[in-house]
Amino acid sequence: VAQNLHGAENLSLIPGEVGASAVQNIGAYGAEVKDLITEIEAIEIKTGHLVYITNAQCEYAYRQSRFKSDWKDRFFITHVTYRLSRNFVPHLDYGNIRGALAEKGIATPTPSELRQIIIDIRNEKLPDPKVEGNAGSFFMNPIVERGQFEVLQKLYPNMPHYIIDNEHVKIPAGWMIEQCGWKGKTMGRAGVHHKQALVLVNKGGADGKEVLALCQQIQLDVQAKFGITIHPEVNIR
Ligand SMILES: Cc1cc2nc3c(=O)[nH]c(=O)nc-3n(C[C@H](O)[C@H](O)[C@H](O)COP(=O)(O)OP(=O)(O)OC[C@H]3O[C@@H](n4cnc5c(N)ncnc54)[C@H](O)[C@@H]3O)c2cc1C
Repeated sequence: VAQNLHGAENLSLIPGEVGASAVQNIGAYGAEVKDLITEIEAIEIKTGHLVYITNAQCEYAYRQSRFKSDWKDRFFITHVTYRLSRNFVPHLDYGNIRGALAEKGIATPTPSELRQIIIDIRNEKLPDPKVEGNAGSFFMNPIVERGQFEVLQKLYPNMPHYIIDNEHVKIPAGWMIEQCGWKGKTMGRAGVHHKQALVLVNKGGADGKEVLALCQQIQLDVQAKFGITIHPEVNIR
């Protein structure tokens, strides 16, 4: 790694948002932060060295980076440099964006209008952590082999899915959790959000063990019904 990281002296940085977004490659509505990040400035915790890490070195993937795997707890990120496009090229085909635009009678949204529409959709579907403790999507959407998907599709013709490539298909974990009857259910003091089954919520006073027990029970049920193992998106320590 040390060979790949280069020294501070030759680079000027645009200060950007720091930290966790670059750790988990946050994404939503057809966009991922990995497509904007050019470079990361970090301090190696053990040595105190300032290092610059390129986008490619982070090995970004869906909700993944080396900061979540072999570099876990190794670096403290101090700056993230983003390169943004001057041209506005919105992704409108995700979720219910087009439906929401039609409702407001907007054909070609400005960036600000689109931002507000996505905020409104999310506020409608996701619990506010200030009101009900949660970490957003608890599980990652699994990507399965096309053959496995086709077998499942015969059993569940309405199964939502996104084609990744010729061999792989992404299936929404929230849909499978809902099919297992978990939406809005609780186990102890932890539960599954009533509007979005991908989100586990703290109903009041649940500790980590209770959330983990709920997570494991959901994993077992999804495995039993669909033969698919779903993995947490959150870090479990
Ligand atoms: C309501 C809600 C909706 C959400 N929706 C989405 C979504 O649509 N898409 C999505 O991708 N995620 C979503 N999330 C998850 C969210 O992106 C993560 O929770 C967020 O990235 C974590 O940031 P944090 O600062 O709160 O976490 P923290 O728990 O502080 O940090 C997360 C991890 O990053 C590490 N870290 C933090 N700062 C640094 C740093 N400076 N240097 C090195 N490591 C650091 C921490 O050690 C930890 O391992 C949602 C969460 C909520 C609550």
